[in-house]
Amino acid sequence: MSKYWSPIVSTLKPYVPGEQPRMANLVKLNTNENPYAPSEKVIEAIRGAASADLRLYPDPLALDLRQAIAARYSVAAEQVFVGNGSDEVLAHAFAALLKHDEPLLYPDISYSFYPTYAGLFGIDAIEVPLDAAFRIDVTDYRRPAGAIILPNPNAPTGIGLPLAEIEALVADHPDQPVVIDEAYIDFGGESAAALVPKYDNLLVVQTFSKSRALAGLRVGFAIGQRPLIEGLERVKDSFNSYPLGRAAQAGATAAIKDEAWLEATCRKIVASRAKLTAELEARGFEVLPSQANFIFARHPKHAGGILAAKLRERAVIVRHFAKPRIADFLRITIGTDAECARLVAALDEIL
Ligand SMILES: *Cc1c(COP(=O)(O)O)cnc(C)c1O
Repeated sequence: MSKYWSPIVSTLKPYVPGEQPRMANLVKLNTNENPYAPSEKVIEAIRGAASADLRLYPDPLALDLRQAIAARYSVAAEQVFVGNGSDEVLAHAFAALLKHDEPLLYPDISYSFYPTYAGLFGIDAIEVPLDAAFRIDVTDYRRPAGAIILPNPNAPTGIGLPLAEIEALVADHPDQPVVIDEAYIDFGGESAAALVPKYDNLLVVQTFSKSRALAGLRVGFAIGQRPLIEGLERVKDSFNSYPLGRAAQAGATAAIKDEAWLEATCRKIVASRAKLTAELEARGFEVLPSQANFIFARHPKHAGGILAAKLRERAVIVRHFAKPRIADFLRITIGTDAECARLVAALDEIL
């Protein structure tokens, strides 16, 4: 508390990011980063951007990047919005699109930035419970709502919804914006971007942080019809006109064009996910069916918090949420096969 704060500051509940510890020989499976280096073409493009031109402001419209994203998703560049990580894109969506008289709806077990943004922007929200199998049932969202946001696949469960169910949700709410946060879509889901031409209330948000291995570059984007995108642009240009620097625009443009790298990398991670799931199940874990680059798992005989602490003693970091219903789960990022093997070896010692 400080007398210098604006009144809202003492009411905020800031998001707590996964830690980035500096430990030797660490197996870091806590923040869903990609275990592989980004495409070499991305590094080259960023090197190319490291020039005297850095004295100049970047393109405030990030047109090359937006055109590259538009080409990949078969939409127009003016239907693409880019920001400094999808967290910033989501923040602008909360400010521009999600505050109405009726409450915003999102799942009770979901991305913990949503309640933080709702608090920051003074948005009334209702958390809609997942069902007993930790799934989103889209019919539970048939209730008075000002707007809806949910991740697909959901985090931290990893469970994905088929495109037909996303479409049913969007069609059910023609008068409300529906934001689908597709941070993990490339690991086995089907993007709702294909529905954008059909639904003017749909905004699809994605990130370069997970599947494209660029968490450090901070680039995210949204795809939607003009009225939604224009809302985001109005907020962005009232806040920061240059959210993406020259290096980020150059690197992300190269990344979106390197489809072969994306496919090969996601294929490796999906194969490692199947292997790790089987290893954990063989040791008695219940593993929720994941379409993401992480799994959410619990052991019937070992409390989640204790397992996480014992893994940490062995320099293996996973994410644990001390929250009702999910306190016994660990969220484990899919690492390389060698990293997953170290996790399994540590579990064998602990169990
Ligand atoms: C990781 C993540 C994001 C944010 O990613 P950025 O690094 O800010 O692009 C958004 N939504 C969900 C559900 C995530 O897990």
